[in-house]
Amino acid sequence: MKVLVLNCGSSSVKYQFISTDDKKVLAKGLIERIGSSGAILTHQRYDGDTIKITGEILDHDIAIEYVIAVLLSKNHGVIKDRSEIEAVGHRVVHGGEDFSGSVLITDAVIQTLRNNIELAPLHNPPNIKGIIACQKHLPGIPQVGVFDTAFHQKMPPKAYLYGIPYILYKKYKIRRYGFHGTSHLFVSKRAAQLMNQPYEKLKIITCHLGNGCSVAAIDGGISIDTSMGFTPLEGLLMGTRCGDLDPSIPLHVMGKEELTLAEVNTMLNKHSGLMGISGVSNDMREIIKAMNEGNERAKFAFEVFCYKIKKYIGAYTAALGGLDAIVFTGGIGENSSEVRKEVISNLEFLGIELDEGKNNLTNGERIISKDNSKVKVFVIPTNEELVIALDTAQIVSENQVLVNKN
Ligand code: ADP
Repeated sequence: MKVLVLNCGSSSVKYQFISTDDKKVLAKGLIERIGSSGAILTHQRYDGDTIKITGEILDHDIAIEYVIAVLLSKNHGVIKDRSEIEAVGHRVVHGGEDFSGSVLITDAVIQTLRNNIELAPLHNPPNIKGIIACQKHLPGIPQVGVFDTAFHQKMPPKAYLYGIPYILYKKYKIRRYGFHGTSHLFVSKRAAQLMNQPYEKLKIITCHLGNGCSVAAIDGGISIDTSMGFTPLEGLLMGTRCGDLDPSIPLHVMGKEELTLAEVNTMLNKHSGLMGISGVSNDMREIIKAMNEGNERAKFAFEVFCYKIKKYIGAYTAALGGLDAIVFTGGIGENSSEVRKEVISNLEFLGIELDEGKNNLTNGERIISKDNSKVKVFVIPTNEELVIALDTAQIVSENQVLVNKN
């Protein structure tokens, strides 16, 4: 099946057109600065042919029209007719408590997404806009929603409830949801394949370290705990997000600096994390460079970043009651041997032993623990788009079978 995978952000649309039979990316691209007259579309075909177009793209409806047009383009496209797009898979950030797996999008599903806007006010509205635009420009083509939160929906209450009045959970759905679910699911399943062992029998900790970072504890294929919470602000230190914090700190700073709610929200989301501690950058490459040049605050940022991951590995090993594998993924997890080394160092007492030579190899999917390490450590590049495409193809096929049966 040929599936158009869409990730609609507030001012961007990322897309990949994937043939799920052979897992081949036929074309991919990005539209940035939607809402301005200087929007940029970058499109790349499977053979490397690349184009960049700048123009006015005022909303998501027009952006989707452009995506379809460039896929149809005579010189740069990959299809002759829009009916060759057999299904659309959308990355949807927040499914709340309503979705524990991917779903075929219906009017009822769109209404449920609208009901969940309060939980993800920045992310769900553009996701919904993308869905509506596809209904208009690709009428009759099935669409599937794949949720960042879904994989974590089987967490037990002891992992998802916060120590605040229970009424707030009932009234406002305040609980841990967790994010990056598609990535945690993909890399943990892949680790089981690489270990040649049944996924249902393994205890795995996955570390997704990108601009946003999260850890998940996966027991027999079920996410039993994860570090991001009600929002993607909780847990690890991130590029610009603070992660775990004493909740009285924002209240204290608001009083001292006379900050509004919006300002303190910006401080925690945009001016904290690696950027906030180092004052250098939110980019791990810059942090490591500055640290190696003797910048003390960059060193603090690096150390806090790694220490928090190490603490989660300890906590989740206890939560899982044992551990078979650790997986690193995301831009930092896949590329930074320094971060992996710092995180894994001194964990031999848990049966985790890093092979420095394998860790230092430049890239690619691989095992980086010593041959005799009880716990296997992997680097596995994530591929969220592929998971979305495969889920979409599966759900659409199942649905077609149902329709045909009736
Ligand atoms: P996103 O979460 O936006 O998808 P990525 O997964 O691409 O982001 O991760 C971005 C992060 O990966 C940045 O902090 C960047 O510095 C880091 N990164 C990319 N390459 C390297 C590298 N070679 N060494 C260290 N960090 C890297």
